Formats: sequence, C-alpha cells, structure tokens
Amino acid sequence: MAIISQRAYRFRNWAGNQQYTAPHYYQPETEAALIEIVKTHRKVRMVGTGHSWSALCHTDEALINLDLYNRVIALDRDQKLLTVKAGIKLWQLNDYLDTQGLALINLGSIAQQSLAGAISTATHGSGIQYRVLASQVQRFTLIQADGSVLTLDRDADKENFDLAIISLGALGVVSEVTIHICEAFRLHDRTYSMDFDEMLGRLDELVTTTDHFKMWWFPHVDDIVLYQYQRTTATANDSRLRQWLMDEVLSVLVYRFLVWIGNLLPSLRPTFNKLLVLSFRSPLDRIEKSYRVFNVADPPIHREAEWAFDLRDAKEVLSAYRKMIDERSAS
Ligand SMILES: Cc1cc2nc3c(=O)[nH]c(=O)nc-3n(C[C@H](O)[C@H](O)[C@H](O)COP(=O)(O)OP(=O)(O)OC[C@H]3O[C@@H](n4cnc5c(N)ncnc54)[C@H](O)[C@@H]3O)c2cc1C
Repeated sequence: MAIISQRAYRFRNWAGNQQYTAPHYYQPETEAALIEIVKTHRKVRMVGTGHSWSALCHTDEALINLDLYNRVIALDRDQKLLTVKAGIKLWQLNDYLDTQGLALINLGSIAQQSLAGAISTATHGSGIQYRVLASQVQRFTLIQADGSVLTLDRDADKENFDLAIISLGALGVVSEVTIHICEAFRLHDRTYSMDFDEMLGRLDELVTTTDHFKMWWFPHVDDIVLYQYQRTTATANDSRLRQWLMDEVLSVLVYRFLVWIGNLLPSLRPTFNKLLVLSFRSPLDRIEKSYRVFNVADPPIHREAEWAFDLRDAKEVLSAYRKMIDERSAS
C-alpha cells in the first residue's frame, strides 16, 4: 500500500498543549503518493514527531506524516554524505550510522524528532564551533504546492537554499535530504555542579575551551549544573548498568515523581531542586559514543521557550534572569 489515510485524525503534540482534529491525515510511503496528496489538497501541513510546542502542525484540511517514508537512499563514504527520505527519525539515523562507523556531526538533547522536523525548526545542539542541524544539510528536495519537485543545493543555489532550509513547513514538503556526516566519535562527558557566580566569572573560558558546553540551572539553587563534552577517539568506559540506573530509573521514575509532587505542593520545589543539584556534587566523568552522550533520558512532560542573545551579553542576561526568578518567587 502506498498511502495510509484517515479521516478526522486527532492530533496531540508531545507536550499535549496543542490538540485539534485534522479533517484528513496521510502517511505516504512513496514520493509519487506524496505528490498525489499535495496535488489533491488546497492546503497541507506536515507533522514529524509532533515534538514542537508551538501550533506548527495545525490545518483545517490535510495533515501529512512521513513516518513510513524514512529509508536510507545512499551513503557516499568518500564525501561523507548520506541521502535519506525526510521522515527518518534522528534515532534511526544514529542507529544506522553507528553500524557504519559513522555519526551525525552534532545533536540536540533528544533523538525522537524526524529529520525534516528538526531541520525545518533549526533544531540545535551545543558547541560554539557547531551550528544548527540544518547547517549540516548539503541538498534537499521540496515538493511544491503544484506537485513539482524542487532540488536545492547549498553550493549550486545558495540564496534559495538559505531562504528555504528553515521553513517551519511553510514552503512545501521536504522529501529527501542529503546531510554531511562524520567518522564515529566519542565524547568525554564531565557533568558537575559549580557555584552560579563562579560560573559567570569563568563563562568565556568554559564556552571556548569545551567542544560542547551547556548548563542547567534549577531556580532557587546557588549552584548550576555544567555539562562539558569533549570530542575524543578514546575508548568508551561508561557502564550500561549506570546508564540504566541513571537514565531509566533516576531520571525518569524519580525525577518524574518529584515533578508530580512539586506540582501538587509547589512550596516543596526549591527543596527538590536543591536535592537534584546536590546529586551532581560528585562529578560524572565518562567516555561514551557521541549520540548516547548528546541525548539525555526521556524528560518529564514540560514546555520550553528559547531566547538567543550575544555571548558578550550572557553574564548580564543570566544574572538578571536569576534575579528576576528569585524576586518574583519571593513576592
Ligand atoms: C523533550 C524535547 C527535547 C527537545 N530538545 C531540543 C534540543 O535539544 N534542541 C532543539 O533545538 N530543539 C529541541 N526540541 C525541539 C524539537 O527539536 C523541535 O520542535 C523539532 O521540530 C521537533 O521535530 P518533529 O519531527 O517533532 O517536528 P514537528 O514538531 O512534528 O514539526 C515541526 C515543524 O516541521 C515541519 N515539518 C515536519 N516535517 C516536514 C516535512 N517533511 N517537510 C516540511 N516541513 C516539515 C512541520 O510542519 C512543523 O512546522 C526538543 C523538543 C522536546 C519535546
């Protein structure tokens, strides 16, 4: 069968804050079927895994999902280029590349997203030398409203490529993607906590001397959790038992339980936050495959917002942000 279709499809995003009924829902398996759907409907929207928090996948006509359109098409080892159908999930890419001794150049904190969804929303990982996932794309094809297929190549048609690569699904259906990949690598992960003010003093050094640097601050706690990932070819030394205990038991069961109690009894949140950060007092120091370090355990349902600002303003912005949260909570 080339298309699975459904009427009155109930869409619910990952966080559950976006829900509606799409009159038509399709899961095509071939490009011909995909083009046929696009030509049949006046309006279509795409949905990948539905992990976006915004109302990006709403339509009063047809919703298309590419979960069945996810094959690897070609691997060019010499050029380090991989061509895939755009519905492939990042975790499927990680698994496939791992079997080939290869890897994605950079990743965000989860891998459930579809490649097309991650590219179309400028999904990013960390690292001052590394850019958003879309920056790794060399070429992609777009099915336009009339069903025609447009190929955009970063070198051959730079202007249109740059205009169309991060489209929030508004310019057509991304159908095939050719992405730059690299030799498999591992990450030396040092995760630990540091006093917030000390971190501010050392921020420039931490950002510029670490391949992939990120921080998590839990409100009302003086310490902040720092993640320093350094790219390495050294052998992995992390234990699967530790990963299971941390990623499945502690991070999922215990953390979700604390969030649940915190929602019932908000006055306990500062204490829980302090306890969570205390657990990072003994630093994590391990070497593991890149994607296993980049990707964190399944987090509890939450909503996120993002702000971008110049690194030169970071200290001022972060201090003001902490002050604002502390003051508002106290009042
Ligand atoms: C727990 C969690 C962790 C996250 N971590 C990170 C992170 O570390 N870094 C980060 O930057 N983001 C992160 N995100 C955000 C996430 O990466 C983006 O919302 C991403 O778009 C989700 O991919 P998706 O496949 O679910 O896309 P969807 O949410 O389904 O769709 C996103 C957009 O892509 C469009 N789209 C989907 N498929 C196509 C297609 N074939 N052609 C054209 N347009 C298409 C849709 O129309 C929509 O506009 C996280 C989200 C969650 C829930």
